[in-house]
Amino acid sequence: MTSTERSIAAAEAHSAHNYHPLPVVVAYAEGAWMTDVEGRRYLDMLAGYSALNFGHGNRRLINAAKAQLDRVTLTSRAFHHDRFAEFCTELAALCGKDMVLPMNTGAEAVETAVKTARKWGYKVKGVPDGRAKIVVAGNNFHGRTTTIISFSTDEEARADYGPYTPGFEIVPYGDLAALEEAVDDHTVAVLLEPIQGEAGVLVPPAGYLPGVRRLTAERGVLFIADEIQSGLGRTGRTFACDHEDVVPDMYVLGKALGGGVVPVSAVVASREVLGVYRPGEHGSTFGGNPLACAVALEVITMLKSGEFQQRATELGEHLHQELGLLVGGGAVEAVRGRGLWAGIDIAPSHGTGRQISERLMERRVLVKDTHGSTIRIAPPLVISKEDLDWGLDQLRAVLGS
Ligand code: PLP
Repeated sequence: MTSTERSIAAAEAHSAHNYHPLPVVVAYAEGAWMTDVEGRRYLDMLAGYSALNFGHGNRRLINAAKAQLDRVTLTSRAFHHDRFAEFCTELAALCGKDMVLPMNTGAEAVETAVKTARKWGYKVKGVPDGRAKIVVAGNNFHGRTTTIISFSTDEEARADYGPYTPGFEIVPYGDLAALEEAVDDHTVAVLLEPIQGEAGVLVPPAGYLPGVRRLTAERGVLFIADEIQSGLGRTGRTFACDHEDVVPDMYVLGKALGGGVVPVSAVVASREVLGVYRPGEHGSTFGGNPLACAVALEVITMLKSGEFQQRATELGEHLHQELGLLVGGGAVEAVRGRGLWAGIDIAPSHGTGRQISERLMERRVLVKDTHGSTIRIAPPLVISKEDLDWGLDQLRAVLGS
């Protein structure tokens, strides 16, 4: 048995089978490259579902973490600590908002957004108690908690977990008329991904997000943008909403906010919205901890330079130009995306998304399939153009194009 086989067999035996990883066991990673336990090097074209926008082992982030590890790592929110205020101030400024509520994982931040919108609905908007409604989109992915999967349209994510949390209405993504019809007097929020990542990097029609913004503003409804996967540089702007000059009422952030080093998530909004909380009404032991704040502060500083957004724009243009050439050649049915982020629909005649991912792995490129026939490309934004081109060469070879 090889080290890889031993490791995978032990994982199979002792971990729940809620994932189906590619058969590679990573031991080391730097920049856009990962090395497995056998010493083989792979180009990472997934970047931890965009948590690793700044690359593996980014020195600035590792140094920030190391310096903080030697000072203080956790106080809980029972006490103040000396990185908290700066983190909240800087993140609020990055978002053009007033206040931050820090959590850890993306799902926790989405839960926080849902709770905030409901509380705002009862305390500020005046919705009758227990009647708040949140409108969401079909094919959404916002996380895995019981409430969040209650408004999922993906049976795999939802089946066998009922009874489900009420208070959500699902409308087709990108359909403004359906959204308008769903919004009523008890609606407190519209919750959307500005680009649907897990669904296959679905970009809504131009004008949709501004339409949602206009509608929600007119009807006194909060617009919550889940930018957990789309935000923080991936699309070439700080937020995917920026492409259409849309400013939502609430940003939900995660993944890259912790730089792939620690889990950091947050809800960011105005004082009118996040000001609804009183002590004891919501919280998290690890939310806003000193280590998380130190790493996230470095992430925010890096984003303020605009350098990563610029890279995502330039490399993204190149990526989409190259991928566009594959459409119509038989193997690729469609390509979507924005910035350094693409969803590629593989023609069934050329294999499933999983098979293409496995063949790419054999050629030392790591991607992941989604929804059967789609593969997603989202390399770290620090990838070099040469490495990106090499990865694309492998994709062309696998697709026989
Ligand atoms: N929201 C979006 C848009 C996501 O893409 C994800 C994760 O993929 C989540 C929420 C959930 O984040 P987490 O896995 O950290 O709970």
